[in-house]
Amino acid sequence: MTTSPSPGLYIVATPIGNLSDMTPRAADLLINADMVLCEDKRVTAKLMHHIGAHTPLRRYDDHSSDGDRESILGMLGDKVVALVSDAGTPLISDPGYKLVRAARAAGYEVYTLPGPSAAIAALTLSGLPTDRFLFAGFLPSKQKARRDAIAELAAVRTSLVLYESGPRLGACLADLAELLPGRDGAVSREITKLHEETVTGTLAELAERYADGGPKGEIVIVIGPPPSPEAASDDDLDAAIDLALQDLSPSRAAAKVAGDLNIPRKRAYARALERAKS
Ligand code: SAM
Repeated sequence: MTTSPSPGLYIVATPIGNLSDMTPRAADLLINADMVLCEDKRVTAKLMHHIGAHTPLRRYDDHSSDGDRESILGMLGDKVVALVSDAGTPLISDPGYKLVRAARAAGYEVYTLPGPSAAIAALTLSGLPTDRFLFAGFLPSKQKARRDAIAELAAVRTSLVLYESGPRLGACLADLAELLPGRDGAVSREITKLHEETVTGTLAELAERYADGGPKGEIVIVIGPPPSPEAASDDDLDAAIDLALQDLSPSRAAAKVAGDLNIPRKRAYARALERAKS
């Protein structure tokens, strides 16, 4: 680091497997910080050793007491305090939200040193649409709550990104396949590690593949968006047009139905003219 960092809270992303993914800026910051807040000192000590950092470590998570947080806030005016998690980007299904919120509320500077996150890495590996996605973190582990959560996600018309553990993968995929029929998916595990693997297919195919138990390691599931309404059948289209024609001209009916079904206006207009004649 060419200049010494200003006091404040630094959110520092760390590798999700391959230690070479540590950015030089992140390493410099951890070496030069006054304190590194971490989830598990043993895990972070390995990373610190790897980069040759001797900065004191302090345990912190979102269950830490208000008193703990107050004492950390007390340092931010004149010290450089780094926040890391066991792996990846802090706050993404990891602790830190309460601290960042409290630091901002108290008027301290908050900086980020961006880097790896399993969610984004898996999304890029999946071959599924990336223009819009919803990150839903870990679904509940109990089946009823998990199925309720999936039913809620079914209405979201984007790719979905979920974190999952090996032992629960089979059960989770079975529920996903049943409640999100016709959708594609990808299962990425051990990203950036020795046994990295991404398997793609329909959710039904993935559920079948992992029915006998999930693989070992850390896993991200990516699910493609629901089939496009552009695939709305002619019967669906005719029904919608007939209804709209009760109150609207063919041109207006076509515009309404094209918007409602997210289909090209030309297709809706051609149909509206046909139906208006009959
Ligand atoms: N904050 C982290 C991040 O930005 O990726 C995620 C922390 S969350 C507690 C841990 C979960 O992330 C794992 O259970 C797994 O679902 C996913 N994960 C982390 N590292 C991974 C990897 N190398 N390959 C696949 N999934 C990973």
